[in-house]
Amino acid sequence: MHVPRLIEKKRDGGTLTTAEIERLISGFVRGEVPNYQMAAWAMAVYFRGLSPRETVDLTRAMWQSGGQLQRRQTDPPRVDKHSTGGVGDKVSLPLAPLLACCGLHVPMISGRGLGTTGGTLDKLEAIPGFRTDLSGDEIEQTLSEVGCVITGQTADLVPADQKLYALRDVTGTVPSIPLITASILSKKLAEDLDALVLDVKSGTGAFMRSHDDARALAQSLVNVALGLGLAATALVTDMNQPLGQMAGHSLEVNESLEVLAGGGPDDLRQLVLELAAHTLLATAVVDRRDRALELLRQKLHSGEAYDRFARMVAAQGGNLNRPRELGQPLDVAASRSGYITRIDASELGHAIALLGGGRHRSGQAIDHSVGLQMFVRLGDAVRAGQPLARLYVRQTQREEAAVTVAAAITLGDEPPHLPPLIVEEVRPAATADDFHGTPDR
Ligand code: URA
Repeated sequence: MHVPRLIEKKRDGGTLTTAEIERLISGFVRGEVPNYQMAAWAMAVYFRGLSPRETVDLTRAMWQSGGQLQRRQTDPPRVDKHSTGGVGDKVSLPLAPLLACCGLHVPMISGRGLGTTGGTLDKLEAIPGFRTDLSGDEIEQTLSEVGCVITGQTADLVPADQKLYALRDVTGTVPSIPLITASILSKKLAEDLDALVLDVKSGTGAFMRSHDDARALAQSLVNVALGLGLAATALVTDMNQPLGQMAGHSLEVNESLEVLAGGGPDDLRQLVLELAAHTLLATAVVDRRDRALELLRQKLHSGEAYDRFARMVAAQGGNLNRPRELGQPLDVAASRSGYITRIDASELGHAIALLGGGRHRSGQAIDHSVGLQMFVRLGDAVRAGQPLARLYVRQTQREEAAVTVAAAITLGDEPPHLPPLIVEEVRPAATADDFHGTPDR
């Protein structure tokens, strides 16, 4: 294989063959293709895109670059959810045990937060003792005993993505729809799933700011999943304000427990139920949406979902009864009366990062005790001096964080147009020609 020719071919807008993509990825994983050549190729893809067939080939090559979880024939259907992430997005915590109570197996291999949106593993590590570094055997054992597990990627699972993402992260090549598609799906395919539900967020707190970009990513994900035999549906959901009231690790665990006990904020509960209902329909646990919702509500209200979460936490070494750390409260008040017309959710995430609750580079330690509680939502009317949000702080940059939160919440004279929480459902297209692009950032 002559790697410079493959880079030039993509640079000049050409299309790589299946064999070329396979050789490129396997050579990269074996260390025969150096980082500088792979980074150059990723940049060529960033500008030129990949055809649907190339994206399928790249995803397959990455998926098969290492070991895989294996579902036995006698096991229940395996399902998972992926979210592109947003401020306050703690859906995985209640969703996994809820689906497990409905008879499904949920092997959630999750990530850590980078930038302003916290990762699922970071949130769970706010629970004293919780382990997120389970081995392949421990994952299978927890799955068979509890029905759900949420843990980090093992070293031999999709090594191509681990290596390529590390390169993309430092070469400006993360926001490429085909590369994101291959990265997300290769990890999900390695879980040996029967169905996948995708939550692609759009708005001020999302990776994809515009609805068109979010839809394009959602379409690419479901098309490529189908091309590789995985049934997937995607919801494009609103991220123009935090999901739920709480953002920050300990706070998000607390709010997830409220949902698991049948309560919690409406938007969070609705999204958990919608994503779960799609999964139950995809795996034919039920045949109608209303039946799915009824079953799910019953699992929440009976305490079954809560107990399942507690069992998962115990199986992974965590102790829900030990107190989770929380910082000191610091309220941010409205500077004038009016309506909440805009919330820059990513700036709210930035405020949490300033307090020590986020990381700017991988491996950085984070503070689970800090965070933000929102008292208002888009469209609410407020009076001057009324608290808009409460920060939970330690000493680090508390004033700067409070100023950032105040600036992120815009007050105006007219109530705004309110976006729906579920913006759109995206299903696989018969012809998948619309996902070559690079999102506007
Ligand atoms: N999340 C992933 O897992 N991969 C990407 O490339 C982007 C977001």
